[in-house]
Amino acid sequence: ITIAVPKETANGERRVAIVPSVLKQLDKLGAEVRIQRGAGESAGFTDDLYEGVSWADGTDDLYKGADIVLRVQPPSVEEAGKLPEGSLLLGFMTPHEGDSRIRNLNKRKVTSFALELVPRITRAQSIDALSSQANIAGYKCSLMAAHLSPKLFPMLTTAAGTVRPARVVVIGAGVAGLQAIATAKRLGAIVEAYDVRSATKEQVESLGGKFIDTGVSAEGEGGYARELTEDEKAQQAEVLAQHIAQADAVVTTASIPGRPAPKIIDRSTVERMKAGSVIVDMAAETGGNCELTEAGKEITHQGVTIAGPRNIPSMAATHASEMYARNLCNLLALIIKDGEIQLDWDDQVVADSCLTHDGEIRHAPTRERME
Ligand code: NAD
Repeated sequence: ITIAVPKETANGERRVAIVPSVLKQLDKLGAEVRIQRGAGESAGFTDDLYEGVSWADGTDDLYKGADIVLRVQPPSVEEAGKLPEGSLLLGFMTPHEGDSRIRNLNKRKVTSFALELVPRITRAQSIDALSSQANIAGYKCSLMAAHLSPKLFPMLTTAAGTVRPARVVVIGAGVAGLQAIATAKRLGAIVEAYDVRSATKEQVESLGGKFIDTGVSAEGEGGYARELTEDEKAQQAEVLAQHIAQADAVVTTASIPGRPAPKIIDRSTVERMKAGSVIVDMAAETGGNCELTEAGKEITHQGVTIAGPRNIPSMAATHASEMYARNLCNLLALIIKDGEIQLDWDDQVVADSCLTHDGEIRHAPTRERME
């Protein structure tokens, strides 16, 4: 089996799908690895670190005879149409958008596995790239908040006086939010957090955060959040606004799978905040949790800095790639058996995470949307 790893082409993407430390695991699976020259460079993995692999200069060369293609970001529409006929493709696929890409994958009869679709069951935790990357994003967002803030996060007792600890509010306490809380705590801030899922209260508290009680719960299916009613939104917004107004830094991580990010901080709430305070909006790419967020920009509104970073995991490309590569290898271990590709459709992880196969869309919501 030949596995091909291209250099990522998406704007600003620094990660790579395979890192040197997983090559042994791929070898054990009986796979040969071919990498596009320079693929790992922006993540800190120069070509000389990959031992025992073969090299290709361009994708034409790389894809010739490849059985499996591993990527971080989905291929462009054009590239999807150039993948080896009948090959396997593993990576993030943004299944809720990019219909022409999906059509091209089907034209080439590519079997694509979307990491967004990996079921969140215990057995699949080691494959869960949404979690591994969200973890990194949460960490980075708290650091970004600390960096942008004109205040210090920790309490300092010095000869020049005492500095009070910063107050940080984290909204959304999923994988990213919990890591944002833990990181802000490690920096010495006082952390408050909020999530619509009441189950997160205990998790927030176990990290030393204080849970903000708005009196609204939005437990949805499969542990994810549902959308709130207008009345619930108003109540949630007012209680949160009071806490946000007191904060030195706010990190927002709220999202609903496949939907635009919930709007949680409106203009008037921003205007209640102190000058010098900071909002880091992790949901910027899906519309933002703050009304004023501009994706990919850092703006200031009445003294409040609002950052809307894009592709945050890519900012920690080395570790993000390492974790991502392990997720991919663990998925490959379910697909490659006895040195051959064997797709076991009775395996829930394989069945659920498959987006396209043999010219058909297997993921029902995507199929229904595109019909
Ligand atoms: P996510 O990225 O989809 O959402 C982030 C958070 O935003 C969630 O906690 C969600 O409840 C919250 N949110 C949504 N709307 C909100 C609103 N209006 N206000 C405030 N918060 C809002 O979530 P995620 O981090 O990917 O994980 C979701 C859940 O799945 C978590 O409970 C996580 O622990 C669980 N999970 C389980 C497994 C597993 O068992 N294998 C793996 C990963 C995640």
